[in-house]
Amino acid sequence: MSNSFDRQHLWHPYTSMIDPLPTYQVRSADGVYIELESGERLIDGMSSWWCVIHGYNHPELNQAVETQLKKMSHVMFGGLTHQPAIDLGKQLLAIAPKHFQKIFYADSGSVAVEVALKMAIQFYYAQGKSAKSNFITTRSGYHGDTWHAMSVCDPVTGMHHIFGSSLPQRMFVPAPQSSFSGEWNPQDIEPLAQTLAQHHHSIAAMIIEPIVQGAGGMRIYHPEYLRQASKLCKQYDVLLIVDEIATGFGRTGRLFASEHADVQADIMCIGKALTGGYMTLSATLTTDHVAKTISEGSPSAFMHGPTFMANPLACAVALKSIQVLLAQDWQDKITQVEQQITSALMPLKALHQVADVRVLGAIGVVEMKNPVDMAQIQQRCVELGVWIRPFGKLVYIMPPYIISEAELQTLLDAVQTIVRESDHEPA
Ligand SMILES: *Cc1c(COP(=O)(O)O)cnc(C)c1O
Repeated sequence: MSNSFDRQHLWHPYTSMIDPLPTYQVRSADGVYIELESGERLIDGMSSWWCVIHGYNHPELNQAVETQLKKMSHVMFGGLTHQPAIDLGKQLLAIAPKHFQKIFYADSGSVAVEVALKMAIQFYYAQGKSAKSNFITTRSGYHGDTWHAMSVCDPVTGMHHIFGSSLPQRMFVPAPQSSFSGEWNPQDIEPLAQTLAQHHHSIAAMIIEPIVQGAGGMRIYHPEYLRQASKLCKQYDVLLIVDEIATGFGRTGRLFASEHADVQADIMCIGKALTGGYMTLSATLTTDHVAKTISEGSPSAFMHGPTFMANPLACAVALKSIQVLLAQDWQDKITQVEQQITSALMPLKALHQVADVRVLGAIGVVEMKNPVDMAQIQQRCVELGVWIRPFGKLVYIMPPYIISEAELQTLLDAVQTIVRESDHEPA
């Protein structure tokens, strides 16, 4: 089924070029359906990695791109500005936590994280505190694949050993253990409290995925961890960066996951669902205080400026995507999806091959006791008419919000089937 040119010449994410796992060629996509060249129509359980929240080939998003395309697809952002960037900026400030007032547009999630880290460094450099140049984070995190974003990913799943001493050494504390709706264990915060007490002079910022740790393990933790972390950061003069790239735009039942803990971070990264999955765009938001401090330093300029910064096509479709989201009762829809996922997946906890089941908003995760056979599961999913991409021990879904009850049931039935079928004994 794999295309032979693709197999021989095109690298895929996290894939070997020698005997890679099969890829499925897509002809088109519409609504929640991905249509393969071989004719199958698959219900998308992944939203193409968190981003296609309104489904594919959405008439209003298509129209936003077409309208903007006829005006201009791109102009440089150095010395020039344009209405799509301004309108999107106004919309972002209207929905983001109120203390965020400054926006830096970039071109992918990883770059938004790089920008956030650089902001934190320049914030302290401007105050003559250049010793504050390191970062602290939790284990099991994921913040992107570029150099410094990778340095704050979980050192094991991020395979830091490959890059050795060429990768900057960060400070890691254990991942929060208290689950989202379980009881808060105050000991959870101790390692962070101790490390900050000891090393705050050398730490510029803490970076964390609020509430849901995504690609580093699909873990959903207690909001109290984030509240306490925020308090400690303030106490020790360390900036808090929340990476909302996966969780932003309603996925967890709030517009931004940090709202579950009501924390005021200093810097926030967004991406993925920002454009409804139409094209790549990200943004790093910060406060007046951080921006003013950087700008009063020498140099006063913030030292970053991607070629495709604030690309007008991407800004126009991002604005439309947010408008489409806000024009519906999205919270009610996410609650319905959450209830349906919960009732279908929670019973799987009883199976001996299942370690845990976690659900929040439109995210459902089944953690197996053993790693699953990805190639076999993908083939089985295609037979069952769904698209799910498990990794390691995790079989998980985060469908487009437009999914109907019947379509979601088909997807959940498929998850149940593949989990039941993956019942080999521990090696
Ligand atoms: C995907 C992701 C990133 C990286 O975004 P890219 O657009 O893939 O560079 C960073 N942080 C989190 C939490 C993500 O889920």
